[in-house]
Amino acid sequence: MKTFVCQCGNKLYFANNTCVVCGLLLGFISDELQLSAFTTNRSGQLQSSANGQIYRPCKNYLTHQVCNWMIHIDDQHEFCSACQLNEATPKLEVKGNKLLWYNLEQAKRRLLYTLYKLKLPVQNRAQEPQKGLGFEFLEDEITDEFGNELTVKNYVSTGHAAGIITINVKEAQTSIRHQVRESLNESYRTLIGHFRHESGHYYWDRLVKSSQHIEEFRTLFGDERMDYAKALNDYYKQGPKKDWQNVWVSAYASMHPWEDWAETWAHYLHMVDTLETASDYDFSISGNKVANPLVAGGQHDYIYTATSFTHLFNDWCRLTQVLNGLNRSMGLDDAYPFVISISALNKLRFVHKVIMQNDEVSQISPS
Ligand SMILES: [Zn+2]
Ligand SMILES: [Zn+2]
Ligand SMILES: [Zn+2]
Repeated sequence: MKTFVCQCGNKLYFANNTCVVCGLLLGFISDELQLSAFTTNRSGQLQSSANGQIYRPCKNYLTHQVCNWMIHIDDQHEFCSACQLNEATPKLEVKGNKLLWYNLEQAKRRLLYTLYKLKLPVQNRAQEPQKGLGFEFLEDEITDEFGNELTVKNYVSTGHAAGIITINVKEAQTSIRHQVRESLNESYRTLIGHFRHESGHYYWDRLVKSSQHIEEFRTLFGDERMDYAKALNDYYKQGPKKDWQNVWVSAYASMHPWEDWAETWAHYLHMVDTLETASDYDFSISGNKVANPLVAGGQHDYIYTATSFTHLFNDWCRLTQVLNGLNRSMGLDDAYPFVISISALNKLRFVHKVIMQNDEVSQISPS
């Protein structure tokens, strides 16, 4: 993730909504992937200091402050391109849910930023009712409106089905997520990780399932036609496959080829976002910033220089060593608690190839 610059010169972050130095309202312009400051013109409209055009804040920005994206004046939608993907949002009458929703939206927008940068197709359900992407943020239903325990409880599973990514709202609560992480003996569990993982299932359907990549997928990850319900049951009964570290990127990846793909995909998105952040801070890894032919005005974009996966991965190894070293100095857990085997590396290389060869590129429009 890049940082941005206010017209006053102050450094801005993706989630900011006001410049702490000059006080101007900030908003993200998704079709330019740009966070901009806004001034009010004579007609009372918000004018971007980045491109001079007029915008309106998304309804979720104005009403609930859970979004900081803008809508171009010519666009009739109430919601920004990120919020148009929402199929269900948390019940705001429940205490504490607004903060959890804010956390969910932050993670979702961060995912979208990377998807747009990777030129992956992002269409909502109105644009593409069958194949479009949607998000549902749902809560477990354990009690009725009077607080009485329900006989039939409805527990929400985080997952993906036919384009809809469902996230259980409690995953947005750090304390609960930590409890789950410990109970499942996981070394890494984050909200952004959930979004990246579930987006992996979505893009498997779009980019791999009926594509020229399917045979290579099966060679690398295994045959996804194996019984998923049985694999899931076995995993929770018996735990991960023995010596999973030698083959899979995570323990959960050993459950089924679909989960292996989703875990590897998420890992790839962790890599490109973190490398872009490091590069933006001039935390030079290999000093290899070159113009990105895929992104207009992307002279400083890191990710896309790596048309060679080997190059990207070498930078990643150097960066994660430093990351972990820094955390150890502070007495914290490793920021990057992974060891990548040759097998996992080949799968990451495959994800890179699928994304780079994505032939749906021409359909993309973030707005
Ligand atoms: Zn400013
Ligand atoms: Zn929005
Ligand atoms: Zn999954």
